[in-house]
Amino acid sequence: MIMPDIKREDILRWLKTDDPGALFAAADSTRATRFGGEVHIRGIIEFSNFCAKNCLYCGLRNGNSNVRRYRMSAGEIIDTALEAISCGYKTILLQSGEDKSYGTDILCAVIKRIKSGSDCRITLSLGELDFDEYKSLRDAGADRYLLRFETSDRALFKKLKPFSSYDNRISCIRRLKSLGFQTGSGIMTGLPGQTYDTLSDDMLLMRELDLDMIGIGPFIPHHDTPLANCIPGGLELALRVVAIVRLIMPNAHIPATTAVGTIEKDGIEKALKCGANVFMPNITPPGYRDYYEIYPNKFYHGMDPADSIYLAGNMLKRLGRYISPRAGDAMGNITGIKRY
Ligand code: SAM
Ligand code: SF4
Repeated sequence: MIMPDIKREDILRWLKTDDPGALFAAADSTRATRFGGEVHIRGIIEFSNFCAKNCLYCGLRNGNSNVRRYRMSAGEIIDTALEAISCGYKTILLQSGEDKSYGTDILCAVIKRIKSGSDCRITLSLGELDFDEYKSLRDAGADRYLLRFETSDRALFKKLKPFSSYDNRISCIRRLKSLGFQTGSGIMTGLPGQTYDTLSDDMLLMRELDLDMIGIGPFIPHHDTPLANCIPGGLELALRVVAIVRLIMPNAHIPATTAVGTIEKDGIEKALKCGANVFMPNITPPGYRDYYEIYPNKFYHGMDPADSIYLAGNMLKRLGRYISPRAGDAMGNITGIKRY
């Protein structure tokens, strides 16, 4: 069942249904029709936990003085990425807080070095930058960019991201698309103040933006943030959103996010069974990964790139799935005709 023409009332009905089993089954079947048993693996390197922003939900927020801050050197980032590529990773995701200290020159050199001599893809998730900065990174060879809009509710956005503007965030997404980046965005589910109406609008916005990749994860409170005492987003709500997004945007690459794996032990497997087709192991070197604490007790699978991809392969085998031998580029829009 594919529902590219779904209406807001239908989304609301799926969000509120007492029995989401049929929704999950329909999403799994749509995923299987599009992707078969293939799951794309993207290795995440969290290379800096410095951040200029102060998002209320995030443990890396500038105002949290309890974080032990680190920056990986360009050499360390390159070595980690090349090790992962030699283990079979086809995509490397470089993620950080909003940290201007590297500058685009260093980041461009890192991208060029990682891409030289290999057919890998590079995805960036570095937050809000200027058009020229995005352009330099794209010209250096970066293929994809992830920038979640987090919520389509302007008032909630303003409250949760006091150092950002909703309009700029959406403009950044449009800029990335205009530069030819395969573009991802997404949301947290279960944010304090979020309603079913907000979530329905979020999903309609994802479709309007014609995103190639969509990240959905439950909000998880961090003890050193202003949202420390808020209720965590539950796994089931996140799974419902994953499933609905799969039905309304059948071609999108949808990861089983780290947050679903953190909120419940078998969250990753469950997400892969209700629409997700991507898994993103954390391959940040062990000496750093504990300090990239956007929320506590972050899930990870394996201590190094080789271990992580081996464990991922085993997990997928148990689900009757397998690691895709392909890069997992954008599949095109709802009609399936656009290709990068
Ligand atoms: N700094 C960049 C940005 O904000 O776009 C990229 C890194 S940021 C840590 C990546 C994502 O982590 C955010 O887009 C947000 O959705 C998610 N995140 C942050 N804090 C979270 C929390 N407490 N619970 C769940 N997800 C969280
Ligand atoms: Fe910084 Fe991103 Fe965390 Fe916001 S979500 S504080 S921008 S790392």
